[in-house]
Amino acid sequence: MPELTCPVLVNGVQCARDLHEKAKYKAGIFNTIVYECDRGHLSRFLYQPVKAIRCVYRRLTDSMFWHFCDNCTDWPKKNYIEVESPEHPPAGGFCLQCISKRKDGDCSGWNVGPD
Ligand SMILES: [Zn+2]
Ligand SMILES: [Zn+2]
Repeated sequence: MPELTCPVLVNGVQCARDLHEKAKYKAGIFNTIVYECDRGHLSRFLYQPVKAIRCVYRRLTDSMFWHFCDNCTDWPKKNYIEVESPEHPPAGGFCLQCISKRKDGDCSGWNVGPD
């Protein structure tokens, strides 16, 4: 891993503080690492690829919204349609909880499979 400094610009000047790893998650074919500097700036870095990825999306048969985090409290466990799509998410809306879990690096099921 290269030496990383905070890339956020403050009044046109790069912050450049040391970064600390805050969260890791997988999004599509990318490993994503979220870093935070000691001023609280967040940056995301993508590393690819994740090995043996298997992206699973589920939605209830009577809902428009796809879930992709199997730790979502609304993750469908019955009466669902499941699709597997490593690169392209299915068309349609996405569960807001899943999106916020993914943003927070707390999504356990975006990819299901070994690293
Ligand atoms: Zn910073
Ligand atoms: Zn969800």
